[in-house]
Amino acid sequence: MTKAIRIHEYGDADNMKWENVNVGAPGEGEVRVKHTAIGLNFIDIYQRTGLYDIGALPATLGMEGAGIIEEVGASVDGFDAGDRVAYAMGLGAYSEARLMTTDRLVKIPAGIDDHTAAAMMLQGMTAQYLLKSSYPVQAGDTILIMAAAGGVGQILSQWAKYLGAKVIGCVGSEAKAELAKDAGCDHTILYNTEDVAQRVRDITGGAGVPVSYDSIGQATVQASLDSLMPAGFFISFGNASGPITDFNPGMLAMNGSLYMQRPTLATFTRNRELLNAVAGDLFDAVVSGAVSININQTYPLAETVQAHKDMENRSTTGSTILIP
Ligand code: NDP
Repeated sequence: MTKAIRIHEYGDADNMKWENVNVGAPGEGEVRVKHTAIGLNFIDIYQRTGLYDIGALPATLGMEGAGIIEEVGASVDGFDAGDRVAYAMGLGAYSEARLMTTDRLVKIPAGIDDHTAAAMMLQGMTAQYLLKSSYPVQAGDTILIMAAAGGVGQILSQWAKYLGAKVIGCVGSEAKAELAKDAGCDHTILYNTEDVAQRVRDITGGAGVPVSYDSIGQATVQASLDSLMPAGFFISFGNASGPITDFNPGMLAMNGSLYMQRPTLATFTRNRELLNAVAGDLFDAVVSGAVSININQTYPLAETVQAHKDMENRSTTGSTILIP
């Protein structure tokens, strides 16, 4: 018997239960992964509350993990028992061990430890596609990043800086502003109290920014649109404050013929070739030291309820892992 964090109905953090589950042997095309660390992500909250539907309940939450392949089922190519592996976007990670198909798995390079791998796959591959595909950042760009002291935010900020951008990071507190600066932000804005668009115009000499990477959703739509230069990119990649429900495309016209994208990591890693390219670029960025993965919170997996409460009330910074 192994243990897992499951929900039987959508709701608040206390709905998650630490339960016995029977994992069993891997079937055709599957492997059994024994987790050594699990990543905590904001998407876990959307899935726990039901904002994102995860299908039949009860279900084991969690989208990201690292560990060792314990057993390999029939018809598995390219992976063997004993391999050190990690993955993102594979529901069921909040578990001591699990079965999964190999399509989301990558082997962890020697220079990266399991805790770092578990912390970086989902947030780091997200930063990769945002900076290289959604809006390819150019050296000399001045860009806007929301929640710059968070998990995705700190990776985005460091990587954008490494690519030669000037980074403006929005954060919820003075303490987070210091963390965002450490992660490469040239300027920080306290978006709960300051006029974001006005500050952006001041910093950019009135020009605005070519891109706003906005993970906040409802609360920051207008601030993002008002901060962009003509034909700029509003990349709305999350809903930490709640989903955008009343968006009129005319707002893109009024703010300067803007582009909008609502991306998901699933699209940018939708086949083996793309997954290997995105994960490989991330591994290179971390192994070379261009990007550091800052694990600022570690909880026992059994205490995931507390981890969710802390993330939801904005008291986590950087990346967070759960240890089985
Ligand atoms: P974070 O560590 O960034 O945590 C979320 C942060 O959002 C908080 O720390 C807080 O920072 C800020 N925030 C603003 N308003 C609220 C609010 N009302 N409630 C809670 N937090 C708020 O999480 P992640 O790094 O895991 O994810 C960041 C965002 O990126 C999420 O929105 C997530 O959904 C999105 N995402 C999207 C992906 C995609 O492919 N589309 C993939 C991965 C993540 P502060 O106090 O500074 O405001």
